[in-house]
Amino acid sequence: MSEKGKLIVISGPSGAGKSTVVFKAIENRNDVCFSTSVTTRKPRPGETDGKEYFFIDWDRYNEMVARDELLEHAEYVTNGYGTPRAFVEKQMDAGLNVLLDIEIQGARQVREKMPDAVLIFVAPPSLEELERRLRGRGTDTEQAIEGRLKRARQEYAEADFYDYLIINDDVEKAAHALNAIMDAAHCRFADKVEWLKNQ
Ligand code: ADP
Ligand code: 5GP
Repeated sequence: MSEKGKLIVISGPSGAGKSTVVFKAIENRNDVCFSTSVTTRKPRPGETDGKEYFFIDWDRYNEMVARDELLEHAEYVTNGYGTPRAFVEKQMDAGLNVLLDIEIQGARQVREKMPDAVLIFVAPPSLEELERRLRGRGTDTEQAIEGRLKRARQEYAEADFYDYLIINDDVEKAAHALNAIMDAAHCRFADKVEWLKNQ
């Protein structure tokens, strides 16, 4: 049987460069897939149902929570977000690493439920640089930028349960680090005990 895939959680302040680094890291890999979350927030212009998110209403969200269909879920600002469990389990069973881009409360639940998951926090080289990137991205209002900077400081104070911290000062270097972490996860001794026994 092929080896099971790993669950890889990526968190970090909005604007740290998570999407940029992840896309760079996986462009030449075929052993990684993304989990698409459900959310109660409305689609932004350009977002498509089933691509960025599955957009659902609160009734459906609460139903999924009640039926334990979400591996983790959290309310962020005023909306609910969650990771559908069935997809993640199916892909991992098929040997694929599954990437979750989720906020810190959800990451904490994953830590508790799936101790083997690899938790990675991506940070910008400084909060000044974070502010420059948010302005450069051009998707946030002045008020939203202030809010995101404040939120970043709070997240730093709570992030001590992650396994790895990648400082994204350079996209290539950060993508290399992410790939190294994923590869190392497949070399854990504890996962290889059966293989050794069969030698
Ligand atoms: P996130 O997914 O964490 O919200 P993005 O990937 O959207 O962040 O990146 C935020 C902005 O910062 C984008 O405009 C992106 O091009 C830019 N960016 C990402 N990584 C770097 C980097 N290492 N150096 C400079 N700019 C970067
Ligand atoms: P946005 O609404 O800007 O797309 O996402 C807001 C925040 O929700 C981001 O920090 C993103 O990582 C997080 N998020 C997206 N999907 C999930 C999810 O399934 N679970 C949790 N806990 N957070 C999520």
